[in-house]
Formats: sequence, C-alpha cells, structure tokens
Amino acid sequence: MMTLLLLLLYFFASCFGDGLEGEQIPLKVNQDTVKGRIAIIGAGAGGSSAAYYLQKYTNHGFNITIYEKSNYIGGRATTVPIGGNSSYLVETGASIFVSANKILSKAVEDFNFETQAFREGAKKVSNADNRIGIWNGNSILVIFSDSIMDKMKLFLRYGLDIFRSLSLSKQFVQRFLDYYYNKLFPFESLNTAAYLSDFLNYTKITGRGLFTEKGISDLFSLEFIQSLTRVNYAQDLESIHAIGTLVCLAANNARQVKGGNWQIFRKFIESSKADLKLKETVKSIKRDNVWNKWQLEHVNSETGNTNIGLFDDIIIATPFDQANIEGDNINIPSVEYVHLHVTFFVSNSALNASFFGKDLQQPFPSTILTTPFNQSDENSSDFDIPIYSLSLIDYIEERRSYVYKIFSKEKLTDDFIREISGSRANISWVYRKEWYSYPKLHPTTNFTDFKVADGLWYLNGMETFISTMETSALAGANVAGLISLGRNTSDIILP
Ligand SMILES: Cc1cc2nc3c(=O)[nH]c(=O)nc-3n(C[C@H](O)[C@H](O)[C@H](O)COP(=O)(O)OP(=O)(O)OC[C@H]3O[C@@H](n4cnc5c(N)ncnc54)[C@H](O)[C@@H]3O)c2cc1C
Repeated sequence: MMTLLLLLLYFFASCFGDGLEGEQIPLKVNQDTVKGRIAIIGAGAGGSSAAYYLQKYTNHGFNITIYEKSNYIGGRATTVPIGGNSSYLVETGASIFVSANKILSKAVEDFNFETQAFREGAKKVSNADNRIGIWNGNSILVIFSDSIMDKMKLFLRYGLDIFRSLSLSKQFVQRFLDYYYNKLFPFESLNTAAYLSDFLNYTKITGRGLFTEKGISDLFSLEFIQSLTRVNYAQDLESIHAIGTLVCLAANNARQVKGGNWQIFRKFIESSKADLKLKETVKSIKRDNVWNKWQLEHVNSETGNTNIGLFDDIIIATPFDQANIEGDNINIPSVEYVHLHVTFFVSNSALNASFFGKDLQQPFPSTILTTPFNQSDENSSDFDIPIYSLSLIDYIEERRSYVYKIFSKEKLTDDFIREISGSRANISWVYRKEWYSYPKLHPTTNFTDFKVADGLWYLNGMETFISTMETSALAGANVAGLISLGRNTSDIILP
C-alpha cells in the first residue's frame, strides 16, 4: 500500500514538477512526462545557453525548468539606466564580446540584435580627448589612441613586441576554436581538453612567465599587457595565468548588444521554451535513490514558499561556492573570486589631470588604465594605485555629460570621485555595484569537470580556465551536447 502511495506521489510530482507542496494543480495528461526533466540553476550566459542548446540538439526533447534567484535574466550581464533614464543604459557587468566569440556572434545574427562598438558613445568627444593613458599611480607612462600619430609613438616605444604578442594571442584563439568548438566538442573533461589542446602548458604558468619565455620585453609586458590584465580581470601579470592573459589581448572588434547583452540570454531562454522561475533560490539538491532522480528544493524570495521538484538531470550554472546550495557528497572544489567594485559617475567635466601627476600634457586622456610599473624606478610598485581602470564609456551631448566607469578593489568614496573630477565639476549621478566578478586566475593544471555525478553537471569550472560570457555559453552548450548524445535529432555542433 505504501509503495502504491509513493508511486502515485511520484507520478504527480513528475507530471507537474513543483507540486509536492504549495497550490493545488488541476489534473491533466502531460505529454512532457515522457521527456527527460532537466533543472538548470541560474539564468546567466551558461544556464540560458544550456537550455537553448538542449532543445536545439533534440528538437525540444526535454522538459526544462530554470531556477533563478534574482528577478532578472543575465546574471553578471546586466545594465543600469544612467541617472534613472532608460534611454541611456550601461553594462554594469560583462560589457563586451568579440568576433571570435562564435556562440554570441551567431546569436546576435540569428536574433537580429543591433550591436555597437565598445565605448561607442565616448567617440562623441573629440579624438584628442578620447585617448587612453596608462598610469602607474605617479605619472602617465604612455598615451595611445586610434590616431596614426599615437600608433606610431606606440610602435617606437614597444617595437615588434606589439605584433609578436598579438600574434601569440591570435594563435591561441585559433587553436581554442579548433579544439573546443570543433575537434573535441562536446568534451567530457576540461582537464583532458586542456591537455589535448596543449593549453595546460599555458594555464600552469603566469602571463609574465609566458611573455618572458617568448622574449617579449618587460617594458611591453609589464607596462602595456599588464594594464589589460588589470582592466579585464583585476589581476597583475605575475599572478594571472597565461591563458587569461592571452584572452585580454584578443579584444579585436569588441562590441555589445544595444540595450544590453543580457537580451541574448533572454532569447536563448525564450527559444528553449523552458519554464523560467525567477526569484526562486535553489536551497538544496540531493539524490533520491528510491526514484533514481535528483531532488531539488527551492524557495521563493517573495512568498518564502518552499517547493521540491524531481529531475533526471540538474545543471548548476553558477559559481557553486556563492550559490549556498546544500547537497550530500557534492564535490565541487572552492574557487576564490575577485571582489570587484564598479563605480559609475556622470560629470560635466573632463578628468582632473593634476590628480594623475604633475605637468601632464593636455588634452588629458579620458580613459586611464593602470599598472604598478615604472621602468626607471624600481620602487614603482610602492605607488598607491586606487583603481584598476577608469573609462569614459559615454558622452551625452544634449547634457554635455561624461559617463565614467571605474573598476577598483575598494569602495570609492564621493570625495575620491570629486578629487579625480576636479573641484569645478558637477557630479550628477553616482552608482556603485559590487561583484564577485571572475575567479582569481592563478596558474593551475586542475579544472573542475562538467560531470559531478550521474545526472549532475557543473558549468562554472570553465571559469578558472577562461571567464567570459562566451565561455560560459560554451560550457552550457557543451553540457547540453553531452546530455543530448544519443537523443539528438540534429548534429551536436557549434556555430
Ligand atoms: C564587472 C564585470 C565585467 C565583466 N566583463 C566581461 C566582459 O566584458 N566580457 C565578458 O565576456 N565577460 C565579462 N565578465 C565575465 C562574465 O560576466 C561572466 O563570465 C559570465 O557572465 C558568467 O555567466 P554565468 O552564466 O556562468 O554566471 P552568472 O552570470 O553569474 O549567472 C549565474 C546565475 O545564477 C543565479 N544563482 C546563483 N545562485 C543561485 C541559486 N542558489 N538559485 C538560483 N539561482 C542562483 C545568479 O543570480 C545568476 O543570475 C565580467 C564580469 C563582471 C562582473
């Protein structure tokens, strides 16, 4: 009798998902019970891509539920309206993708999104004003821009190291696409993929190590390349692994979706017809050995109601440490993430040059990258550099307003913002956001693989290799490919 009751209970649970507790649900025959039931935790790049590719490879062969604890799609890809005006949006997290990002580029094409170049709005200030300076906490070391004059100066300073480094990065991207999107896809193990592609030799050394080995000068690597690892990953060349460094050099044709990159992930979810449950935090997952399924407990952040669903597969699409999910014997190693402060402000004035050093040439750059390096001063790393970067990201002509974005390790005060803007500046808007933005990309030869247990998958091990929207989307597509094998109605391939 007990067994019969349990069977009935399971029948209802698997027909209607979250029906064990909560509201009454009318009885109906649900064709979806014949499909595999998959839960995805997280509606960011990884989770949404997993949903999209699961359905793409199997012609909607799965019944998918996505649990997202926040009230929006996109995770670390999200926008905020400048000064509350929804006509002016800025990315507070992931801002750019590049042409080599095949999954995102294909999505932009398929869903007809309009894109714009990164810092497109900043081009509205004059070329002379829209230059980039590298600052070491004491003085501006070098200034560059798109102008032929500045490019020539850059060449005179760094010589062929520029082209040799870019060529290394290009070779890396080609090899990455060749192995991870083609030869190995879908791959069971990040470790094996890194070994077969020979990338373990690059993840085990630092960026500094790689460029020294390749004969690139300290001047170029510690001054220029390091400013890129700091703006992209808030890490110095001595601590970031070589793959992370090469990614920073591959920013060719950087662009973003107008209105927000998160829209790609909304389209992924809509196309998958997944049941998206916003404001639902997953609290625990455990194996139900009676039914040979995964049991997922989730709580609604508004009502506090807790429900349980049973699934054939669960895909964890969020950094596990930060997700506060309980589970028996779930062995996902801890990974330290960068705690990043992002500060936006709108000012009616260009930057206060005197903050950045004495007797600086005018016009002063509007974007500042940083590096703890000074060729002629061994104590340069002692300078206090309060920011990783400061970028002019937009200029609103009607209001003559400069929109700046700063990445920093510590929270920046209003006084600091006034100091870098100058005493005459009028600061009309300040917005602060904290992120656990990306892992500390320390050299490693060990990655957390996708398969945690039978039917339990983890996407964010990918982030210790490369942390971008594209690579999270790749991890999602890859796990979708692995789950779909044998049930696929179309080839398991990538764009
Ligand atoms: C400031 C910043 C700048 C960046 N710049 C770039 C860039 O220019 N280009 C680029 O490609 N990448 C960039 N990145 C990195 C990029 O944002 C990430 O690599 C990528 O977006 C990660 O996607 P994801 O889906 O793996 O994780 P996330 O986007 O973090 O998504 C995980 C989701 O899971 C949800 N979640 C967590 N716990 C639970 C739970 N218990 N229950 C339910 N839901 C849960 C979260 O709310 C979140 O929505 C940047 C990141 C930051 C923060």
